[in-house]
Amino acid sequence: MQLQNATALITGGASGLGEATARLFIQEGAKVAILDVNQEAGEKLEAEFSGQLKFFKTDVSSEQDVQQAVEKTIEIFGALHITVNCAGIAPARKIIGKNDGVYGPHSLAIFEKTIRINLTGTFNVMRLTAFAMEKNEPNENGERGIIINTASIAAYDGQMGQVAYAASKGGIVSMTLPVARDLAKSGIRVMAIAPGLFETPLLLGLPEEARISLGQQIPFPSRLGRPSEYALLVKSIVENPMLNGEVIRLDGAIRMNAR
Ligand code: NAD
Repeated sequence: MQLQNATALITGGASGLGEATARLFIQEGAKVAILDVNQEAGEKLEAEFSGQLKFFKTDVSSEQDVQQAVEKTIEIFGALHITVNCAGIAPARKIIGKNDGVYGPHSLAIFEKTIRINLTGTFNVMRLTAFAMEKNEPNENGERGIIINTASIAAYDGQMGQVAYAASKGGIVSMTLPVARDLAKSGIRVMAIAPGLFETPLLLGLPEEARISLGQQIPFPSRLGRPSEYALLVKSIVENPMLNGEVIRLDGAIRMNAR
């Protein structure tokens, strides 16, 4: 699938990896709908890319919110071809460094909230956007759409304090192959990326020395990943019809448990 003239829906697109993807997609000639809870950042992007980008204040875990945003996207841009699921929260990360029971177990409420946004939200958006993609005419490869989810290396190498996050991302990894098989007959591909450590607001909450030290643990390029590097992989996945049902680690070969 080509980005030129395609319409993409990006959840969590108001910040970090999703925002970098939105910027690259627009540069490549796509129209972008951003679904995010961060209204201020979303509206700022909409003003920056007037006519090419629409922001819809949306909680990805709400069926009604997502359905409305999908309908409006199609009304405005005519169709929906690409979904990138980036919306997510990482509650443990926020408290690392504060020395206040950092590695203690999560409350049930935090566990359920993380699963609801990261895992149920991804499922919800996949499901509702796949219905919209099924209505597209297939391209020359027989493709009607592509869905790219964002897991994490925490799905494989979860750290202390990351139980809820790791479980939610493990669920995304496990969904990828069966959903890809379910949607193959509709000409829709499903892929996932498992990023390692990227310089986004999600990690910027950590003290500077912690970020530098984390970056240095990455065998190559020995620094944190840049959001533009995530966006580049999303673009290659979109363009390569043979990639389907796979989770690609984008992590500079770091293995958190092998230190
Ligand atoms: P980020 O915090 O910059 O962006 C996440 C976005 O999701 C924010 O704009 C936020 O408002 C939005 N969001 C949160 N809850 C939402 C909800 N209920 N509905 C809609 N939007 C919601 O973080 P990021 O680093 O860009 O993370 C993007 C994705 O990548 C996340 O799923 C994250 O778990 C994953 N990831 C990030 C890293 C990293 O190192 N940054 C590593 C592995 C995985």
